[in-house]
Amino acid sequence: MSSDSTLLENVKQQLCTCSAGLKLTPDMEAFLKMPMRELYVSLPVHMDNGSIKVFKGFRVQYNEALGPTKGGIRFHPEETMETIRALAALMTWKCALHKLPLGGAKGGVVCNPKELSHREIERLSRAYIRGIYQIIGPDRDIPAPDVYTNPQVMAWMMDEYSKLEGKNVFGVITGKPTILGGSEGRFDATARGGLYAIREAAFKLGVDLKGSRVAVQGFGNVGYHAAYLAKKLFSCKIVAVSDSSGAIYSEEGLDPEDVSGHKHSTGSVLDYPGAKNITNEELLELDVEILIPAALENVINEKNAERIKTKILAEMANGPTTAEAEEILISGGVHIIPDILCNGGGVIVSYFEMVQNQASIQWEEEEILDRLEKKMKEAYYSVYDFSIKNNTGMRQAAYTLAVGRVVEAMQLRGWI
Ligand code: NAD
Repeated sequence: MSSDSTLLENVKQQLCTCSAGLKLTPDMEAFLKMPMRELYVSLPVHMDNGSIKVFKGFRVQYNEALGPTKGGIRFHPEETMETIRALAALMTWKCALHKLPLGGAKGGVVCNPKELSHREIERLSRAYIRGIYQIIGPDRDIPAPDVYTNPQVMAWMMDEYSKLEGKNVFGVITGKPTILGGSEGRFDATARGGLYAIREAAFKLGVDLKGSRVAVQGFGNVGYHAAYLAKKLFSCKIVAVSDSSGAIYSEEGLDPEDVSGHKHSTGSVLDYPGAKNITNEELLELDVEILIPAALENVINEKNAERIKTKILAEMANGPTTAEAEEILISGGVHIIPDILCNGGGVIVSYFEMVQNQASIQWEEEEILDRLEKKMKEAYYSVYDFSIKNNTGMRQAAYTLAVGRVVEAMQLRGWI
């Protein structure tokens, strides 16, 4: 997250690219470039050794014109308000693009969870909820998991909020364990949704997915499931995966489940038997049909864009491609499935979780997957058709549709 200002600048620049098409006035554009609400919190936490450490946390509620805001919480040592602000903007456009009745938000805590014990992470999670308690709630802002947070963290956070309210409020957070009101299908929803989009892109480009070479950067929640499902659902060949320590490559293809077992026992994907260790940078430049960045932002930039050889770039991470890189990729014929389209499966199923919590019901997994597939397909074709009709890139098409909906809601509400 070192180049956080780049991500924010990218997001603002993308807004400008669709501003003329939407006939945005300078006032409207200025409004859309600013978050509606931001909160900084200091979080004193009792450490296991008896000391007290104060962590810094943030929550940004970017725009609530379409409904209560929604967005994940990151625990990361290099987290900054700038990154969180950019990610909250992306959430706003993502919810709008997928026609969810939600605005966009994002939160984060500056910490390294790898250096914290289980109990310290619990105390930090609870402290964060106490810090942001006054601005969240099932009708106001509903957090979810993101980088280095998971269903257990969501369970502690829901429990802390419920204690403050004096009653169970399962609907305050999504991505919970299923026994606590979590939704079936949430754990792999982001990856699965992205794969539905990849399937449609491959169909449009005439790429046969069976045997197609896939490289995945990041082997966490999204990256692991993307690799696993690409192999399972479409018989793709997963030639490379990576984590923060580095990447592995196998021309014959990797078994993601087995690599996951190796990572669990050794702590990283590196030195997987039969595969070659390569760098994260080398992974991005492999000769593949499908490249899936599923880690952090700005990894595809003007320094490496010329060397990216993929046919389809499926942005499962948020903001993996800079604006300069995008121009180079488009002129090289790369089909980009932009982040707000590609990784929308997570927030779509999170929205289903909210709906189930509100009605105190639990849908079967089959129903969730059917609804997810329908929504991803609808969103993919709305963007694809717009881009063909208006001769724009896929990202500009996605932004124009999404921002247009937010603007329409703001106008109808009399805000602008
Ligand atoms: P995660 O914490 O489960 O996994 C992150 C992975 O990235 C880990 O494997 C980690 O080792 C790897 N990583 C960290 N730094 C790296 C580096 N410098 N180079 C290469 N790999 C590195 O996080 P996640 O939930 O899988 O999220 C991944 C991306 O997807 C993020 O951009 C996130 O914002 C986005 N996203 C996640 C969801 C979701 O539902 N979890 C939804 C939408 C978007």
